[in-house]
Amino acid sequence: MSDVRVRFPPSPTGYLHIGSARTALYNWLFARKHGGKLVLRIEDTDAERSTEASIRGIIEGLEWLGIDWDEGPYFQTAFRDEHVAAARRLVAEGHAYPCFCTKEELDARREAARAAKGDYRYDGTCRRLAPDEAAARVARGEPHVIRFRVPDEAGSVVFEDKVYGRLEKAYADLEDFVIVRSDGSPLYLLSNVVDDVRDRISHVIRGQDGLANTPRQILIYRALGAPIPVFAHMPLTLDPQKAKISKRKHGEIVAVQFYRDNGFLPWALCNFLVLLGWSPGDDRELFTREELIQAFSLERINRANSVFNYNKNDPKFFTDPKALAVNAHYLRTMPVEDLAGLVEAELRAEGLWDDAYAGERRDWFLRTLDLIRSRFHTLKDFPRAGRAYFADDYAIEDRAYKKNLAKHPDLAGWLPRLADRLAGLAAFTPEATEAAIRAYAEGLGVKPGVLINGVRAVVTGQLAGPGLFEVLDVLGQDRVVDRLRRTPERFAERSG
Ligand code: GLU
Repeated sequence: MSDVRVRFPPSPTGYLHIGSARTALYNWLFARKHGGKLVLRIEDTDAERSTEASIRGIIEGLEWLGIDWDEGPYFQTAFRDEHVAAARRLVAEGHAYPCFCTKEELDARREAARAAKGDYRYDGTCRRLAPDEAAARVARGEPHVIRFRVPDEAGSVVFEDKVYGRLEKAYADLEDFVIVRSDGSPLYLLSNVVDDVRDRISHVIRGQDGLANTPRQILIYRALGAPIPVFAHMPLTLDPQKAKISKRKHGEIVAVQFYRDNGFLPWALCNFLVLLGWSPGDDRELFTREELIQAFSLERINRANSVFNYNKNDPKFFTDPKALAVNAHYLRTMPVEDLAGLVEAELRAEGLWDDAYAGERRDWFLRTLDLIRSRFHTLKDFPRAGRAYFADDYAIEDRAYKKNLAKHPDLAGWLPRLADRLAGLAAFTPEATEAAIRAYAEGLGVKPGVLINGVRAVVTGQLAGPGLFEVLDVLGQDRVVDRLRRTPERFAERSG
């Protein structure tokens, strides 16, 4: 049995952020690799943000990604008494003390330090109180916080971060920090440690923004006499302007649900996320679940922050090009039978589903998906760019119209005549349609490309796509002939 126990302790904010998802993923990979356990713990002390809906958002996001946990969800607020009891024990054992300094007094001292151009750190006024005097004041109900007593001898907290290496913080650079507020509520620094001790966490794998807390948390572990876990801090993921990504600033584009709703495959998103801050040490970028579990290690987490690129203004390439490329890879290579179920859901949502696709037209459906996916990036492309395969009321994309129809107005006359020729073909095979189109182009004295691109625009509405003769094959003779005959209407729609 492995002793590896890791945790994912999100503070709910209403949705699962891709940065948090990456943290969860790293922890999950590490647990799975070592046959350990992943604990899900919701740090729900911010009552306003920890609504049922926002907790559900996190759980749904994890479930969708396929990140399963072994214990929990536990809720931090359920352990509040335990956190306060730990603080009392620290006071009783001399590792912490009540502090009665008022906000006004602290502000005045901070001001004075600023005026003297010095650094302000809590000056230890209450640390020097005799324990029975302090206890008597507490007993009288005098308002107070509880501060942790940072060792006063010379020395420092030293730890070996799995990513950032040996790190050191001098005691002299730490002030006696608050662990319980005057209203009796424990602070995150304390609760988080008490929970990790109770949950027997062996490795704390979290964002680099947690690094500032680590020395103080190590002091708490020591004072509690608890074993100190291994720490691994992961680099941050920044936006193209090198700012931290957040929903407030970037909107939905940073929420896992956004990817689900925009046609991503869960594993593709995981595969993309793992690369934001980790590499296998060779040039592999695509991994199956098993391969990734095998390849993953804390040692290969990068130190440099990663950049998440996206372009909200581009409807097609709305997110990081790498994310789209990874998604496209899986979409194009997964077993087409598995893809069929996912596309079915997309078509149903758009009213494009036909039960025959699961029955007598099953073969046609699979063959069509297999053909058209070669150009697609997300599941949404099937009902959108692929609409013409499943419905007759598709639009002709602007770019396709401008480039391949408007420039050659003669196509309005040529394509219906081409339709007549195609209607006469006894076998509507790719070879036969190709020969017919090329022969017709030669007769007209135009480049075959003019006809090929024009036909594509009219029968699929798209500027680009798989090889045209394959496309005609899956669309079938009737639909192709009918659509080409209506080319003049397509021109009229535009000029009208
Ligand atoms: N609730 C904290 C957060 O979401 C957890 C930090 C930690 O992993 O210790 O940032």
